[in-house]
Amino acid sequence: KYQSYAYDHMLKIRERNISPSLVTYYKKPLLLHQGYMQWLFDYEGRRYLDLFAGIVTVSVGHCHPKVTVATQKQLARLWHTTNIYMHPSIQEYAEKLTSFLPDPLKVVYLTNSGSEANDLAMFLTRIYTRNFDIICFRGGYHGGSPYTLGVTSIGPYKHGIANGFGCSTTMLPDVFRGPWGGSHCRDSPVQTIRKCSCSEGVCHAKDQYVEQFKDTLNTCVPKTIAGFIAEPIQGVNGTVQYPKGFLKEAYQLVRERGGLCISDEVQTGFGRTGSHFWGFQTHDVVPDIVTMAKGIGNGFPMGAVVTTKEIASSLAQNLHFNTFGGNPVACVVGAAVLDAIEEDGLQKNSEEVGTYMLLEFAKLRDKFEIVGDVRGKGLMIGIEMVTNKGSCHPLPDEEISRIWEDCKDMGVLIGRGGLCRQTFRIKPPMCITKRDADFAVEVFRTALERHMERAAEK
Ligand code: PMP
Repeated sequence: KYQSYAYDHMLKIRERNISPSLVTYYKKPLLLHQGYMQWLFDYEGRRYLDLFAGIVTVSVGHCHPKVTVATQKQLARLWHTTNIYMHPSIQEYAEKLTSFLPDPLKVVYLTNSGSEANDLAMFLTRIYTRNFDIICFRGGYHGGSPYTLGVTSIGPYKHGIANGFGCSTTMLPDVFRGPWGGSHCRDSPVQTIRKCSCSEGVCHAKDQYVEQFKDTLNTCVPKTIAGFIAEPIQGVNGTVQYPKGFLKEAYQLVRERGGLCISDEVQTGFGRTGSHFWGFQTHDVVPDIVTMAKGIGNGFPMGAVVTTKEIASSLAQNLHFNTFGGNPVACVVGAAVLDAIEEDGLQKNSEEVGTYMLLEFAKLRDKFEIVGDVRGKGLMIGIEMVTNKGSCHPLPDEEISRIWEDCKDMGVLIGRGGLCRQTFRIKPPMCITKRDADFAVEVFRTALERHMERAAEK
């Protein structure tokens, strides 16, 4: 147990010596001591069900025994070579990772973060096509580096200085918040309560958003473009889903103009969506470049870009170098994570527990006026809080925060996302069980009931 003066001391150091741009969750931030699988433990011995997994990063479970043992073994043998010499780990890992990807996505670059992976992916589109312009969605998050900030399109992350030359945003095909879309449009066990005129096989919303996409291509960028980057489901923006079939048409339009398509799988990859291993598969497309990070290392800092031999050869005309990318420790971690996903049946678990949770949360949406939407796929879930059902007006921040703090006090950690942080994000380690899901839903229900009591007293 930590002394309270030590907690205060930690807070002071954080305020004095650590980046003031950091977001620190909760009025009284947690001081963590340990993690095990879906659980976190603080210094006072309190246990929390971790439904945010270090921002969708702990894929197979905190300190997963298999990953931990493999890492420890490698740490005692060799940490680093900068790949100027051979070490089996990088070969073995590249072969294993690409075995999860369809042809022709077989060439791997290993990086240390998602921003770095997307930087490289954007660079590849430009080097290969010799075009410059890149299209992205409003509301997308692709990194905080100066290059990727051009395609990260969420106001609070922008800094008001010139960035992202050649990056154009296009309308977000958001089935819940956007002008089009409704009860038939998205690939989720739970549809929005908005009615729409679409029917199975004919999605008017998709067609309207495709028109907007064409409009961007015709008005904002030259005839030929370098590429298009999108998350299969937007993460930071609050689990935003596009109408079924949209991405497929968008890919085609981009390719007609000579551009390459990048799928940012930093949050959606590694089985999280349940039905498929990669998010792009849920849209029935094959990208030219796939980027990954977060869940790839279960919390170990690593990322990757996978592309085709042909695209990779365009960068090989000159040297490209990354000191730490593909170090033996990272490669061993990455391989152990893939093993754990397979051996523990985590993709299937994402589908089963995720679908179960989505349907349970949807019951709360039907009961509580302030729960506007429940959406997602597998263990990538968003719960959007609104002032009243049928509107997209965000519930005031202090009210959302009360509910969120209440969940934490009852032992459940949840993420926040969206422009006004109005959407609760539920993306736990994929080892979570149905029992945990029941506990989480019960806690959330209690927090909502307390909110209703407070509102009635006003
Ligand atoms: N892409 C997506 C979809 C992300 O969610 C993030 C991080 N939130 C990134 C890229 C950037 O990753 P990193 O923080 O590792 O640079």
